[in-house]
Parts: sequence; structure tokens; C-alpha cells
Amino acid sequence: MNDEHPITYVVMGAGPAGLAAAHALADKGKRVILLEADPLSGGMAKTLQKGALKYDLGPHNLHSIYPDIIGLIKRLLDNQIEEHKIVSRIYFRDRVVPYPLTGMKVFTSIPLYLSLAAFFDFMVTRAKRRLSFSRPDEGSFKEWIINRFGNVLYEIYFEPYASKVWKMDPSCLSKIIAEKRIPVLSLFAIIKRALFNEKKFHPEDSTQIYNFYPKGGVGVLMQKMEERILGKAGEVIHNARVENIYCRDNRVAGVQYTNKEGKTCLIENARLISSIPLNELIQLLEGVDPSVKSDSSKLSYTSMRLFYMIVNKKEVLDLPWIYFSDKDVIFNRLSDMSKFSKTLVSDNKTILCLEVSCRINDELWTAGDNALFELMIPVLEKYGIVRRQDIESVFSEYIEYSHPLFFKGFEDIVGSSLKELEKIDGLITIGRQGLYTYANIDEAMKMGITAAELITRQDGRINYKNIFPDHLFYTFAA
Ligand SMILES: Cc1cc2nc3c(=O)[nH]c(=O)nc-3n(C[C@H](O)[C@H](O)[C@H](O)COP(=O)(O)OP(=O)(O)OC[C@H]3O[C@@H](n4cnc5c(N)ncnc54)[C@H](O)[C@@H]3O)c2cc1C
Repeated sequence: MNDEHPITYVVMGAGPAGLAAAHALADKGKRVILLEADPLSGGMAKTLQKGALKYDLGPHNLHSIYPDIIGLIKRLLDNQIEEHKIVSRIYFRDRVVPYPLTGMKVFTSIPLYLSLAAFFDFMVTRAKRRLSFSRPDEGSFKEWIINRFGNVLYEIYFEPYASKVWKMDPSCLSKIIAEKRIPVLSLFAIIKRALFNEKKFHPEDSTQIYNFYPKGGVGVLMQKMEERILGKAGEVIHNARVENIYCRDNRVAGVQYTNKEGKTCLIENARLISSIPLNELIQLLEGVDPSVKSDSSKLSYTSMRLFYMIVNKKEVLDLPWIYFSDKDVIFNRLSDMSKFSKTLVSDNKTILCLEVSCRINDELWTAGDNALFELMIPVLEKYGIVRRQDIESVFSEYIEYSHPLFFKGFEDIVGSSLKELEKIDGLITIGRQGLYTYANIDEAMKMGITAAELITRQDGRINYKNIFPDHLFYTFAA
């Protein structure tokens, strides 16, 4: 340790993970600097404003299995929350299906000829699975589903939605998407529940959990953390993009970033918590094994375009959100902001948010707002959701890194990247992008708090598998 320069705790990225980490460090009285590339804190959990209407980057319904995180969020928000029940529907093949489906609705929600074919196929698949001695390869999402539910149900329920959400052929997606709690799982849960009458608790089943929303939008929660950091003499620097991380003797020696004015700045004697995408972190680090650098560049994230419609109505939906599983419908989910918080709407207007999965620069990412609107409005009118003449205006927001892409074989790349990071003292990666995991806000905050605790210890090295077993639920080569 350098006595002239006391340790500076640098946190990269002011999303929920980075803010929670910096907040916990500031609370401990540590010297902390939070570096954020964007002009605003919040990451994907921001609240923005158009005229009198506020909107979030997609609805951010809060829920958690961690009572301490729920307690912290409520304290930060001074209990300014709205509690609600999340009820959903799925629209597909010109039908409206309630969610969760119960009993035989899995089969009665589709035409009779298909339901007979699906049922027969399912029974044969189960029988084959029971009798089979040799286990088929189940590495991919596609194989995993077909081996359990048969081809017909796969093609009706799983294939269209999975390929739309992940922008990848399901035979190239990892089976952990089916095993773990990812949007497409809701369809899996539907069928499992219907067929086996399963009522097990699942943290992604919003009908089983306590849901709430911050008054004024999710950004209020981020603002509160930022205020607390500043109040404890921490620094939050916006428009600060980290560009190099120097290491000496397997320790972080300095963090270099470019500030708002384009000037290069260096923070020495730093300990670092990073919540930026894992592949970017590896590229910024000095001295990393070139083969790990090259492998980690294969990690990839899906992107999302959020398409907003300002509607001249107090509310549009009778429930918070609806899923659209047909492949030819370009959006995955539609939500009505008025159903999450009345503080987000005013003047008898509401905002609809339509989530469109993209790859950066594909045709859905680059299409003009009007062109996209023309693809969406016929679907909304067909289902009687909203009429063209009720829409006042439209606009888009773009999220470059929305979900880590769980392609077949990603596990070993994440594993080797994390093993490389474990060699460096005083550096921890966390967050949805940083740990390459499907984490919600509560989990991102939990990781931030855990990292703040660990980084202040004398020996700052960690074993990721041991520290974050819930998030690194998949196995990878050691
Ligand atoms: C459409 C949508 C809906 C969602 N709905 C919900 C929901 O209902 N409930 C829920 O709990 N969660 C929801 N989430 C997930 C939630 O947004 C994430 O869990 C959360 O934002 C993850 O926080 P994070 O800090 O890990 O990452 P992020 O929020 O992505 O923050 C990372 C930050 O790092 C910054 N950064 C990147 N590179 C650099 C660099 N080189 N230098 C400095 N800064 C950098 C970025 O600008 C960003 O601010 C949703 C997400 C999406 C996309």
C-alpha cells in the first residue's frame, strides 16, 4: 500500500449494482469515486421525462427474495412506493391466453387438431424418455425442450418466443435458458404447471411474489442512492468512461478514464469494483492472457429498443403488461406505465412501452419510428388494445446491453474470464453485465453490497463461484 495516497475505492458504472456498491462503501466511510460513462446515473434503471410524462427504460417492477434488500429499498424511498399485483396475459395466434394457465388450458388454448397432436406428441416423448437407455445430448435449449415436451409444443410455445427474444436459433442457445429464470421460462412454467399441476414457488412467477414500484419511477431509487453517496463525501463523476486499468504484481495499480472535457485522468492506488460488461472489462485490463482476451470478446449481449406511444387516454390496459409470443409480432411485451405508478402519467394521458429485442444496427434497431409504428399498430388494433387515432406521438430509447446472451458454450468463456480476474488483487466484477448473469435490480444491489464488503478486506481476492453461487448457477471448467 502507498502511504502517500490512501486507498481510493473506484466503482465503474452507476447502475443499481455500482450505486449500491458505492453507497455501501461511502456508508463505511471509505473514499469512493463512482465513474459513469453516461450523463445520468441509473444504468438500465433510469427514469426519463417527455413533457409532463415520466417513463422508465421499460417497466421496473421491484420484487426480491432478499428481505434485507426490500428493507433497504423501502428505507431509501422513505416508503414512497405503490404495491400491486402483477397479472399477465399472452397473445398469440389471434388468441388471448390468461397467465398463468391452469389445468388443460395449455391444450385448450390452441386449435383442437393442434392440441390433439401436441398431447399425443407429449405422451410419446415422455414414454420415450422413460424407456431410453442412452441420454440424448441436451446442450441446447431446443433439445432440452423437445426432449421433455415434444416437437409440437416446442414449435407452438417455445420456438417463436425464444428466437424472437434472443435473436438466435434456439439450437444455438444454451439449455440453461430453459432451466433458469429467463423470460422464456414463463412459457415453460405454464406448461409444466398445467401438465404436472406444479405449484412450486418460483422467483420469476410474479403472481406469487410481493411486487412494488417506486413513486415517480425507478430512477428515484437510483437518485436516492446517489444522494447518499454524495452526502457521505463520495464522488460521482458522469461522462467518465474508463479506458484502461493498469495492474502491477497482480494488483490494480491505477484506473484511467476520460472525462467530460475529453481529458485523460488517472486514479492511483485504487481498489476497483466494476459493473461494466465482463468482455469490456477484460479488454481494458493490462496484462491479461491474450487467449482469455480473445475468448472473452465472443461474449455477447442482446440489445433492446424500447418503443413508446403516448396515448390520449388515462389508461389503456386493464393489467400491467401483456406478452406477445408470435414471431411475426416484432415486440415481446407491451406495458402500460399507468398500471405501475399513477405518478408516471398525467393530463389524462398514459405511455405504452413496447419492448423490441434487437442486435445493434439490425433492421429493428435502425428503422425509423414511423416505420416501426406501422408494423406495430395493426397488431394492437387487431387485438382491440388501442386505436391509431388515440396515439399522440411515438419515440424510442435504445439499450445496447440488455441481456447477456446465453449461447451454447458461453459458460466456459465466462469461467476463464473470471479465473483470470481472480488472479488480480483488489478487483471485483459484479452486476448483470459484469457477472454475465440474468440479474434483476435487487440482485444487482445485493452483489454491490457483497462486493463492497469484500473489497475492503486486506486480501481483496475472491472466488466467484463461492461468493456468487446464485448468479453463477451454471458449471464451467475450472
Ligand atoms: C426492458 C427491461 C425491463 C426490466 N425490468 C425489470 C424489472 O421489472 N425488475 C427488475 O428488478 N429489473 C428489471 N430489469 C433489469 C434491470 O434493469 C437490471 O437488473 C439492472 O439495471 C442491472 O444493474 P447493473 O448495475 O448490473 O447494470 P446496468 O444497469 O446496465 O448499469 C451498468 C452501468 O455501467 C455503465 N458503463 C458501461 N461501460 C462503462 C465504462 N467503460 N465506464 C464507465 N461506465 C460504464 C453504463 O453506462 C451503465 O450505467 C429490466 C431490464 C430491461 C432491459
